[in-house]
Amino acid sequence: MDPTSTGKTFSNFVLDMDGVLYRGGAPLPGARELLFALRQHGCGVAFMSNNSAPTRRQYLQKLHRMGIEAREGEIIPSSLIAASYLRRKGGSFRLFVIGEAGLREELALANMSIIETPLQQEGVDYVVVGMDREFSYQKMRTAMRYILGGAGFIGTNPDTSFPEETGLSPGAGALIAGIEKATGVPPIILGKPYPEALKLLLALTGFHRETTVMVGDRLDTDIVMAREAGMFSVLVLTGVTQKEFFNDDILGPDMIVHDLWELMEKFRLTKKDGHGGIHPGKEL
Ligand SMILES: [Mg+2]
Repeated sequence: MDPTSTGKTFSNFVLDMDGVLYRGGAPLPGARELLFALRQHGCGVAFMSNNSAPTRRQYLQKLHRMGIEAREGEIIPSSLIAASYLRRKGGSFRLFVIGEAGLREELALANMSIIETPLQQEGVDYVVVGMDREFSYQKMRTAMRYILGGAGFIGTNPDTSFPEETGLSPGAGALIAGIEKATGVPPIILGKPYPEALKLLLALTGFHRETTVMVGDRLDTDIVMAREAGMFSVLVLTGVTQKEFFNDDILGPDMIVHDLWELMEKFRLTKKDGHGGIHPGKEL
């Protein structure tokens, strides 16, 4: 699609973080400058990550350390989506959690009680599984027994891997898949690209889909969510997706850029236009 022919103006950017703004602890080229330019143009910004491990404060500190301008209220990790989903179900549930500090903190803030091992006789309402770098056979067995005992099974996000400085590492989706295999029970999966993620994004930001750009590095999460939501989708090739992975069967993004510098060029983020929004560049 040639976005210039639509005459669209974009005023909000939803940015994935891992593989878009940074890889591990290192900022990616143009990340700082992109945020500076978006603020200059008065654009709405949301940072949306499927990684449930860090707390919102840790995400904020990481972005600030890299010189990326961000506010805590703009950060939407899958841990917050899980907490919001359970809160909307209307209870203070008993949970068994496989996950790290970010997930535990968000669930506790939503008044959930987190039951620690060993296995409790009375069971739990839900087993919530996110990224956990201390995942173990024992945790898997406890989750399995609670689920077979009737607990709901929630996965924070579907990502089977995520990029680190040293290469790809297993993501929550891989842990969730193992538990699904063991129990035969399909999980409810939150995070991008699922409806719960989009619902929370729109509720927290008030962004209109048709004036919003989603920038991500994964086709199966970032780009699928953008397409299903009717947002303009941009795939950046600095994360898990390389151009040679494409074939004609995959519904692709609206735009592909090699890095954020190219994104800024295409959206002409170097100077303001008269409408407070951004038009994609003519060279598309
Ligand atoms: Mg990513």
